[in-house]
Amino acid sequence: MTRKGLLLILSSPSGAGKSTLARRLMDWDPTLRFSVSATTRAPRPGEQDGREYYFKTRPEFEAMVEAGEMLEHAEVFGNLYGSPKGPVEKAMAEGRDTLFDIDWQGGQQIRSSSLARDVVSIFVLPPSIAELDRRLRGRAQDSEEVIAGRMAKSRDEISHWAEYDYVIVNRDIDAAFDELVTILKAERMRRDRQPGLSNFVRGLNREFDAR
Ligand code: ADP
Ligand code: 5GP
Repeated sequence: MTRKGLLLILSSPSGAGKSTLARRLMDWDPTLRFSVSATTRAPRPGEQDGREYYFKTRPEFEAMVEAGEMLEHAEVFGNLYGSPKGPVEKAMAEGRDTLFDIDWQGGQQIRSSSLARDVVSIFVLPPSIAELDRRLRGRAQDSEEVIAGRMAKSRDEISHWAEYDYVIVNRDIDAAFDELVTILKAERMRRDRQPGLSNFVRGLNREFDAR
């Protein structure tokens, strides 16, 4: 039975754990496609071009926007970030789900696009601001100045929590991951995401008729 691909959007203040959850979800279901964003920010240690992000110069990024290649794009912490459209359209056509790790601005843009019906959006909250601060520092990949900037932005990001379909408080990572999987499993079962159902039920009726 064919299924329509859905767009799973994960947003959170930086450090709340959405990349960790996204990585786990990709391991849990290898058929999921991760939407690799383009960004003008510099790579962090260990990040690979084409895996975590496509690292672009500002002119390169702006040319992609100009050419209509972005599904959404936004400025976050002084850098440009955007989701390339092509791979998303391909995944949807194949009935595959796409996972986005994007901020509230990107979430809003995709929700107000023609793809709105296919969106499932999830906001990840930290259990406390003290813990958010600890996690940002624990990641130890950004300078003190970058961390302070991200903390200052967290309040703004959190203010958009009510625009999302689901909210996960990431206290314990295993519990948060279970909740994420539960959401995805249920959303995949929605009637309108199972286009083969009408035919299937027609088959059941033929079987009734033949008895
Ligand atoms: P984000 O993608 O939201 O910026 P990350 O996934 O990079 O956040 O997580 C930030 C840091 O917090 C990482 O070091 C990660 O291992 C850690 N972390 C994530 N979830 C939890 C959790 N439930 N408990 C403790 N540490 C966590
Ligand atoms: P980071 O620099 O920590 O990887 O990401 C910073 C923020 O940018 C995160 O909130 C992340 O979700 C967001 N982000 C990453 N890619 C995109 C994107 O393609 N579009 C938008 N709107 N935000 C993005």
